[in-house]
Amino acid sequence: MQKDILGKRYYAGCENIDVTENLARDRACQLFNAEYANVQPHSGAQANEAVYIACLKKGDKVLTMTLNSGAHITHMSPATAQSRFYEPIYYDVDQETYLINYDKVEELALKHLPRLIICGASAYPRTIDFSRFREIVDKVNEEKKKQMTEEDKVTENYWEDNKCLLMCDMAHIAGLVAAGLHPSPVPYCDFVTSTTHKTLRGTRGGLILCKKEWAKKIDLAVFPRLQGGGLQHIVAAKAVTFKEALQPEFKTYQEQVLKNAKALAEQLIKNGLNVLTGGTDNHLILLDLRGMGITGKELEDRLASVHIITNKNAIPFDTEKKTVTSGIRLGTPAVTSRGMKEDDMRLIANLISMCAESEEEFELYKSCVESCVAYLCQKYPLY
Ligand code: PLP
Repeated sequence: MQKDILGKRYYAGCENIDVTENLARDRACQLFNAEYANVQPHSGAQANEAVYIACLKKGDKVLTMTLNSGAHITHMSPATAQSRFYEPIYYDVDQETYLINYDKVEELALKHLPRLIICGASAYPRTIDFSRFREIVDKVNEEKKKQMTEEDKVTENYWEDNKCLLMCDMAHIAGLVAAGLHPSPVPYCDFVTSTTHKTLRGTRGGLILCKKEWAKKIDLAVFPRLQGGGLQHIVAAKAVTFKEALQPEFKTYQEQVLKNAKALAEQLIKNGLNVLTGGTDNHLILLDLRGMGITGKELEDRLASVHIITNKNAIPFDTEKKTVTSGIRLGTPAVTSRGMKEDDMRLIANLISMCAESEEEFELYKSCVESCVAYLCQKYPLY
């Protein structure tokens, strides 16, 4: 139990609420083998913001991935308020492989000696090597130590306030991590943030896991620095989410999510579509539409018109606007929850491929695609 660390609530009359919140926190720690959990962030965005509040000062350098390479907007994208308050330095994926180039990240990290390095993504289809990120942080800290002046050495808390820290936003892959199907960032990171509603398949909400030494600062950052009163009904739902994720069936579900993503990617590739990085290690697939005469926005609209819901998504080095994009992001968690398997994925890949043909061909195929979507929905009802 982590009760002692959370301490007393500001608001009175919360004894029963404490029970559910402590349960949620204990289950989160059990699920991810973490030292400490704060389950109050209203969303993933708030979870990230709270980490920044807890560990950064105005003007601190933060090494983070660009939006086009797959990061989330809250990872200090230029569109955010944080990017003006702190000093982001961006890394991209490799221009040829579209994979994270850890050597380049290390080069940038040693050049800029940031306070925080952010890893984790919203649109990265491959396994992330968190141990390599830790190695980079450790090298930055060796260099920072070398550069400390005599004055720095005698300044109280200098090292604690300036050493390089590692944060992973595992929102997308949290369910896979929980099931042991993606390496966990927890042993390597000072902070791990997440949402509870992506592969974790729970209520909409945020989560922060951290080392015990950061517990107090994280709690204060969430409340009162960032948020007001908790969404306690959501916190109770998070307790249920974590309990479900602790069941053996959850692993079976995540295994099927991965099998389905692989089957979908393979069939799309067979149909001649450009699946970025040549496949996927996780639950998502990125389609590169460049050279096909259709934008992400246009294909998203076409697919929505036949009731296939996807995201237009920027791809690495995309030259289209964020509201247009050259890519589509596909994911298998929702259809897997409905019970669909690899054969269904192959059918879906064929339907998507038909929608990506020329305007004339799409018009010819449209009613046939709609019928197939209706067939799948009837075969796998929601309830
Ligand atoms: N972090 C990542 C990696 C995400 O993909 C998202 C949402 O898409 C978020 C954070 C933000 O989550 P929320 O919408 O709950 O604020």
